[in-house]
Amino acid sequence: MVKTRFAPSPSGYLHIGGVRTALYAWLFARNQGGKFLLRIEDTDVERSTEESKLSILEGLKWLGLNHDEEIIHQSERFEIYKEKANELIADGKAYESEGAIRFKSDRSSNVIISDHVFGDVEVNVDELDDFIIMRSNGAPTYHFAVVIDDHESGITHVMRGDDHLKNTARHIQLMEAFNYPIPDFVHLPMILGPDGSRLSKRHGAMNVIHYRDEGFSPEALLNYLVRLGWSKGDQEIFSIEEMIDGFDLSGINKSSAKFDLEKLQWVNQQHLLNTNDDQLRQMIKDQSEIAKDLSDEAIKNFMDAYKNRSEKISDLISSCDQLFSKDINYDEAAAKKFMTTDILSPLKDIAASLKACDWNQESISIAIKSVCEKHEIGFGKIGQPIRIAVTGGTQSPSIDQTLILLDQETVIDRIETAIAYIKEKSD
Ligand code: GLU
Repeated sequence: MVKTRFAPSPSGYLHIGGVRTALYAWLFARNQGGKFLLRIEDTDVERSTEESKLSILEGLKWLGLNHDEEIIHQSERFEIYKEKANELIADGKAYESEGAIRFKSDRSSNVIISDHVFGDVEVNVDELDDFIIMRSNGAPTYHFAVVIDDHESGITHVMRGDDHLKNTARHIQLMEAFNYPIPDFVHLPMILGPDGSRLSKRHGAMNVIHYRDEGFSPEALLNYLVRLGWSKGDQEIFSIEEMIDGFDLSGINKSSAKFDLEKLQWVNQQHLLNTNDDQLRQMIKDQSEIAKDLSDEAIKNFMDAYKNRSEKISDLISSCDQLFSKDINYDEAAAKKFMTTDILSPLKDIAASLKACDWNQESISIAIKSVCEKHEIGFGKIGQPIRIAVTGGTQSPSIDQTLILLDQETVIDRIETAIAYIKEKSD
C-alpha cells in the first residue's frame, strides 16, 4: 500500500511551499487508496514551538488535508534513535567523535538517487562525508531521524522539496547500512517568487491562514497549488475530487514554478462561479449579519448580479453588506469627485421619475435615460452619482441591475439623502 507523509519542522508557520508539498503527498496517497501520515520534525528543541505546530495543524485542517494514523513527534522518539545509533556503532558503521556520533560513509561508489521527477541523479562519493547522526546533546540529526521514521512508518514514497535532493544520497547510505528497502523518491521543484528568486514573505509566502482571512477558499488555493508544478492536459480548474482522480507523479514538472497572486485570484473566482447557488447563499448568510435578514430571493438576485464581479467570497460579503446596510457610507474620494452641485438638478429629476416608474429593470433604465435627455447630459455624468448614492461606492453592476436589487422606497430615499448631502456640502 502506498504511504506518504508530510514532515514539517515546527519552527515557523505553514506557508505556500509547505502546503504544496503536503498537497501532493496527500493527493498521491488518496489517488492510490493509500495513507498519508503527518510527522512533526521537532528534534531541534530550541527552534520548535508548540505555537508553530498548532498553526501548521490549523492550516492543514482548514485546507482539508486530513492525515491517517496518529501524528508522530520526533521529540518523543529520542530513545529509539539512540538505540539505532548504537546498533550502527556495534556493526562498525558509526563511531563516536567529540561526544557526537558520526556515520561511517561508504565511499566505495557514487550514490544514484532514482527520482520520479529528476530521474537518476548521481552524487559523487567525494561529496559524501562522515556526517553526524546524533548530536552531543542526544538529539538525532534530520538525516538520521528521517530515515528511521520513514522506514518504521512504512513510507513507500518520500515526497519533499528538491532542496533535500542532495540529502537523499546520505539517506540512501543510511538505509543501506540498516538494510532498509529504498523507498521511491519524489522531489518537488521549489516555488519561486514572480521575480524568479526564492519565494519569500514579500511574494506571498505567508502563513496559509492569511489566505483564509483574505477570503480565498481552500479548494481554490489547493487548485492553484496543484497546478503550480503539475499538469494534466490543459485543465486549469479542478474540484478536490478531480485532483484526487487525476493526480499522478508523471505530471509533476521538473522546473520550478512562479507564484502568481493574480492567477490565484482568477482560480478563486472560477471556484466562486462554480459554487452552486444554495451553497453560496448559505456561505453569505453564515458570514454576513446583514444577509441574515434578507429573503432567499433577494440574495439570489444579488448573487446573480455580483458573482462574476467578485474574486473572493469576502468581496461578495462586503458588497452585500454595503448594498443592504441601513446606512450608506460614501467612499470619500468618490463622493468628492462625483457628488457635485451640477448634478443636483438631474438627481432631483431622477428621484421624481423613479418614484413614478414601475419597479422593473426596463422602466428604471427608461426613467434614467429620459432625465439624461431632458438635461442634455450623457449617462456617464449621472451614472456614478447614482451608484454612489445607492451603494456608497463606484463599483457595482449596471445601474438598472443594481437598483432593482433594492426596493423602490430605499432607492428613492438614498437618492434624496444624496441630494441633501450635496446641498449641505455646497453650503
Ligand atoms: N522537516 C523537513 C523539512 O521541513 C522535512 C523534509 C522531508 O520531508 O524529509 O524540510
